[in-house]
Amino acid sequence: MTLDTGGVTRRIGVLGGTFDPVHYGHIGIAEAVRSELDLAEVLFVVAADQWLRESPPVAGATARLAMVELAVANTRGFEVSDVDIVRGGPTYTFDTLAGLREQLGEAVELFLIVGADSAMSMDRWKRAETIVSLARVVVVGRPGLAFDGRSLAKTHPARGAVYVEGPMADVSATSIRDLVRADKSIAGLVPGEVADYIESNGIYR
Ligand code: ATP
Repeated sequence: MTLDTGGVTRRIGVLGGTFDPVHYGHIGIAEAVRSELDLAEVLFVVAADQWLRESPPVAGATARLAMVELAVANTRGFEVSDVDIVRGGPTYTFDTLAGLREQLGEAVELFLIVGADSAMSMDRWKRAETIVSLARVVVVGRPGLAFDGRSLAKTHPARGAVYVEGPMADVSATSIRDLVRADKSIAGLVPGEVADYIESNGIYR
């Protein structure tokens, strides 16, 4: 990450997630938002433990981080951040954004990228007012979930969000874990390097 911009504001996208595992749905939304909003880069921020989820991640933090690193290694403008893993404990997005702001300084503008499913629950996120003061919220479409920011309550953090439809890829980490457990192919749903990592480390079996 280059930080000294000589006073010019860099637009950085922040895509937080469990990435259990990372898949083409994540990569597709990062690409769509990056090009639509002309972002300098998108940071994939791997959660330690996302507190709103019903069950803890299946793969450990080290494996999830390694898979994201493999997935974005060859894409210019995609970076990985372990800020949440290093901090440890439950991951709260206001902490993520505050940590990034501290690391990156004032010369960046942060855009928090969330899928439409996550966006709907943002009113339950801790310190939502801090989140919207630190970043612009960008909601990306997800199949099966109609998103209409205008129908949300006035105080809902996703109400004033920028909406990017994106590729609408019907893929989820849950479906990938299910396929691996059933010994079925995940080709085309995750980058080849990620599929190999899952296979050789026996994850999700
Ligand atoms: P799981 O199936 O385990 O719940 P997931 O596929 O939703 O996982 P996460 O790591 O929880 O993956 O998602 C991180 C972010 O990416 C969230 O904001 C989520 O809404 C978004 N996202 C994930 N998959 C897609 C997709 N196919 N289309 C749009 N947004 C997505």
